[in-house]
Amino acid sequence: MRQWFDTEAGAEGPDRSPERIDWLRVVPFIGLHLACLGVFVVGVSWIALAVAAALYAVRMFAITGFYHRYFSHKAFRTSRGLQFVFAVLGAASVQRGPLWWAAHHRNHHRHSDTARDVHSPVVRGFVWSHMGWFLTNHGFRTDRSVIRDLERFPELRLLDRFDILVPVALAAALYGSGVLLERHAPGLGTNGPQLLVWGFFVSTVVLFHATVTINSLAHRWGSRRFATRDNSRNNWLLALLTFGEGWHNNHHHFPGSARQGFRWWEVDLTYYVLRTMAALGLVWDLKPVPAAMRGVRRMPDGSDGRT
Ligand SMILES: [Zn+2]
Ligand SMILES: [Zn+2]
Repeated sequence: MRQWFDTEAGAEGPDRSPERIDWLRVVPFIGLHLACLGVFVVGVSWIALAVAAALYAVRMFAITGFYHRYFSHKAFRTSRGLQFVFAVLGAASVQRGPLWWAAHHRNHHRHSDTARDVHSPVVRGFVWSHMGWFLTNHGFRTDRSVIRDLERFPELRLLDRFDILVPVALAAALYGSGVLLERHAPGLGTNGPQLLVWGFFVSTVVLFHATVTINSLAHRWGSRRFATRDNSRNNWLLALLTFGEGWHNNHHHFPGSARQGFRWWEVDLTYYVLRTMAALGLVWDLKPVPAAMRGVRRMPDGSDGRT
């Protein structure tokens, strides 16, 4: 149970039964879902819905812009101080720490849709790719060999080890804000439990399922402009839901780019925000998509290479 709070507890030693789901350890994940039923107890208000939506937006951007495009792919640069701020925002998404996230994602690109890809819907099926793989003993571990560049920073290692801290602080802040609003602005009709349930539990669960559609649906559902070695797809609906990540076939074709919508009509909200941050001097060296990488690519036999 110590592993709920300290991800390094028991992480040493051989990885026995890597495919087994560690039920005790996933209790918080199940609890997160069950806590959403609290909406029937706490009721709803406009402010609670607005807070839930805003936290979805900020944290989805943190996942795609920071955990994915920055920590996993180094698609742009920033200062060490802001790097830590980005990591804290990413950790608030309750998708574990930046090192864990980046390590699994880098391995996904190395082994996409092969037997070594931990969340391939082609090899393991929809449910496993969506929410089975990271509940296993193997899924909890971080492959340190692929994140040496990130491990150099002790502040990132600390955040990653105690990845529960930021989510707990967020939940407490939401509860406290609700208590204050009930006392000082009773006209808003909210309270501590209501902001906690909508702002933390509901928002986090919706955010989680939207994020993992990129592992599950975006390797199954959509079109293929590029004949990549995997089964990745471009899907406009998933791109809207995940602020640009749905252009997943583009991304597998050229993962290093800060931009995933390659055409003007491929809406990529994350990229627009990153461009704005670059204009403000917060980030720099956003990697572009080379012109030679943008044209449609087919396999030599004319197929799109789908598996
Ligand atoms: Zn993928
Ligand atoms: Zn990626």
